[in-house]
Amino acid sequence: MDVLKNFKSIDNNVQRISNSLSLKKPTIIAVSKSFNINQILPIIDIGHEHFGENKVQEAKFKWKDIVIKNSNIKLHMLGKLQSNKADEAINIFNYIHSLDSEKLAMKLCEAEKKFNKRLKYFIQVNISEEPQKSGIQKNEIFQFLKYSKIELKLDIIGLMCLPKINENPTEYFVKLHTMAQELNLKELSMGMSHDYIEAIKSSSSFIRIGSAIFGERV
Ligand SMILES: *Cc1c(COP(=O)(O)O)cnc(C)c1O
Repeated sequence: MDVLKNFKSIDNNVQRISNSLSLKKPTIIAVSKSFNINQILPIIDIGHEHFGENKVQEAKFKWKDIVIKNSNIKLHMLGKLQSNKADEAINIFNYIHSLDSEKLAMKLCEAEKKFNKRLKYFIQVNISEEPQKSGIQKNEIFQFLKYSKIELKLDIIGLMCLPKINENPTEYFVKLHTMAQELNLKELSMGMSHDYIEAIKSSSSFIRIGSAIFGERV
């Protein structure tokens, strides 16, 4: 697996698609979950800054030394976050994409104060309205935004979604884009290895790419 070659080819693709649509190039988050630091190093060495993980413990041990040497690196938490891990998450990550409950928002707010940190947040929206899926429901989003942004003063920068598997993602991407515009939120975290092109066409600003860079996870 030539990680660097994969990354460069996606980076070129993203640039080309953005240019052709006269859109700002979205940030590529290299989703490195389940890969070890040696497999990730080629992309760190060329100066890429944004990396995604989905587990607090894994991220903590894997990135501990490397972020000291590379202080420009930004770590993104993409996976489900339990509120009892808020303190740890605050000290590892720069962005959290999976803000999905009032309890979690409250714990993160407390942790920010305790450790004097400021993170950037995406609210995860259950855009496909699947009962088993994480995320704030569409009809509760306004209330949740008010609570987390105005009351708790978390720096909410945008919305995140995971479309329904095996369905055309564009419908969901368009919905999330419209919702973000209505709420006056600038950023959109949407698009993965198999659907990032559609996501860019729907104005995504943060795309989360794992297997297309690092290969299949085992
Ligand atoms: C694993 C993961 C990704 C990356 O998925 P790929 O299909 O490997 O690109 C993106 N977003 C989230 C939330 C993930 O958990």
